[in-house]
Amino acid sequence: MNDDLEFVRRRLGELHDLKLTINLLEWDMEVLMPPKGAEGRGRRISTVAALHHRLGTEPAYAKALERLAECALPEDDDAAIVREASYDLKRASCLPEEFVVEMSEAHTRGFNAWRDARAKNDFAAFRPHLEKNVELARRAAEYHGYDESPYDAALENFERGMTASRLRALFAPLAEDLKRLVAKSERREGFAFPKGPWPVAAQQAFERGVLRDMGYDFEAGRVDVAPHPFCTTFDLHDVRITTRYDESDPLSSLYTVMHEAGHALYEAGFDPDADRTPLAGAPSLGIHECNSRMWENLVGRSRPFWERYLPALRSAFPGRLDGLSLDEVVRHVNRVEPTLIRVEADEVTYNLHVVIRFELELAMIEGTLAVADLPDVWNAKYREYLGIDVPDDRDGCMQDVHWSSGLIGYFPTYALGNVYAAEVYARFRTETPLWDDDLRAGRLTTLLDWLRPRIHRVGRRKRAESIVRDIVGREPTAAALVEHLTRTHAGANP
Ligand SMILES: [Zn+2]
Repeated sequence: MNDDLEFVRRRLGELHDLKLTINLLEWDMEVLMPPKGAEGRGRRISTVAALHHRLGTEPAYAKALERLAECALPEDDDAAIVREASYDLKRASCLPEEFVVEMSEAHTRGFNAWRDARAKNDFAAFRPHLEKNVELARRAAEYHGYDESPYDAALENFERGMTASRLRALFAPLAEDLKRLVAKSERREGFAFPKGPWPVAAQQAFERGVLRDMGYDFEAGRVDVAPHPFCTTFDLHDVRITTRYDESDPLSSLYTVMHEAGHALYEAGFDPDADRTPLAGAPSLGIHECNSRMWENLVGRSRPFWERYLPALRSAFPGRLDGLSLDEVVRHVNRVEPTLIRVEADEVTYNLHVVIRFELELAMIEGTLAVADLPDVWNAKYREYLGIDVPDDRDGCMQDVHWSSGLIGYFPTYALGNVYAAEVYARFRTETPLWDDDLRAGRLTTLLDWLRPRIHRVGRRKRAESIVRDIVGREPTAAALVEHLTRTHAGANP
């Protein structure tokens, strides 16, 4: 048994290293790689992915895991490692190696095609790649198996245990509440930041101060520019984030980096004793988003946060913001305004953008919506849910990177993250009565220190829903989110 354990732990370390090597190849592809490197890079990534798949499904490794699963290990980390590794093995073994390679190549080609097609607003050029990705997702679902909908198998990649029918039940009433909230929210016009440019260097200096206060370690991470911001990990001591700057808006990158740093703090906070095992990982993307959205929205849009950081923003842009009041900034960052672009959406309408994507990808994978009809149906839903007209596919159904890279079943995790974040943050506030004072003093690490043992260090020892359940003491629901949004966006004090 000890030999098996040692072998399994060594193999898990190798799998972890290969996975993080893919992260590095992908980070470089999106941040630094010249365009002509794309074709070759796709091959490098598929080779490493195939090697990962081969080592992760090798018969000797599978046998060792099987033997370990049969002995009744005491309920400790070894047992949890065997349980999680067996789950990963079962997921990976469902897919033949040629299929994994085919998928990986299609996703890289899809990403590059999307980038060009989006720049040219040319959905016809992207369409065959999306059709391919939907077909691959359906084939993957057949390999994995499912009870009700092939979409359940796609969801399992990102939100273990979640199903289309439970999401429908959670999202349908949430969407109704949000539509009502959008209608009720007064349009808070009358304030706009003075015209740009807002120099990038000053934006960077300001946001670095916020990131440091959050506990983001620049000796163990860095911030770079990428067209679609993300966070990626090469090591517990090298967790990087990316952002994009808008010279006409001094705050758009701030909220991006607070979001991505929320992810990074989570990844950097996994249990070092469990490093290079599946336990030093997130049980789902929803719980990942719970961290990022808590920092971005619940912390970063609150009044005490701006009491602390408005003076810093003023000194980053000397003379430009002197007449700006705290009230104006707080109202500005909490305005409700239906717009086209999900990543720029306010906290209320954001979830409606997600529900639209959920309904569309569910329909595509279940075969009730043809990819060719996507632009028309997309535009119709934007009219129905948000009351706005979509002028073109660039800012319509091609605005997000996800589907181009085969990430189908991913979007719902964003709204789930909001649901979890509202639940967890409400509990944190109850347990931390002096939190507002900490915020006003820039002691943002009070929240980080609270999250570490309850979420970060837990890793995959528990499932996402049970982490939240253990924190709040009951099943998570969308009620805390609706309560928070009603309080901050429908009149009362944010
Ligand atoms: Zn995120």
